[in-house]
Amino acid sequence: MERLIPVKTVDDILPEYRDTPVQTFFEYHNFRKPFGSYTDSKMLIGMCMDKRIHLNIPDRFAFTIRTGGANLRYSAFNVSYAIAVGGVRCIVLIGHNDCGMVNLYSKKDQIVGGLIEGAGMDPEQSEDHFRNYAPMFEIDSEIEFLLSEAARLRKKYPKILVAPLFYIIEDNQLYFLDEG
Ligand SMILES: [Zn+2]
Repeated sequence: MERLIPVKTVDDILPEYRDTPVQTFFEYHNFRKPFGSYTDSKMLIGMCMDKRIHLNIPDRFAFTIRTGGANLRYSAFNVSYAIAVGGVRCIVLIGHNDCGMVNLYSKKDQIVGGLIEGAGMDPEQSEDHFRNYAPMFEIDSEIEFLLSEAARLRKKYPKILVAPLFYIIEDNQLYFLDEG
């Protein structure tokens, strides 16, 4: 986690994100600035579905897509819709520590068995389901995956500001990443 950059005051906002919605986002979440009111939003937040993550932001501040690992590869049309129809010009991608999508294969028995036990899926269907989907969502490292997703989105949507951020479960704070 040596690549994390704490953001405790406005001075910690990286120059490329000054006076952008990313700065406002930090002001609400990390600095607990009183909420403004919004009728329109220019921001899309892509974040993990993990229930331990809670953002402190006003109503209508951002579109949100939550998926395992904040993986937006299979939400391409949702992202495009938010840009084209929703007017989004900034995407914040939020990874976090202790993500369940890391090393999915170590949890294979738990996932396959849990679908049989908990959901009533038949054993063969459960095996197939894991085999088909685990490779799509498996992550080696939260930070490396986050940076690769940010790079992919920047290339695909060159006019959109894309900020990869990191959330630490234990302190509920957002961090920048040293992308160097
Ligand atoms: Zn996660």
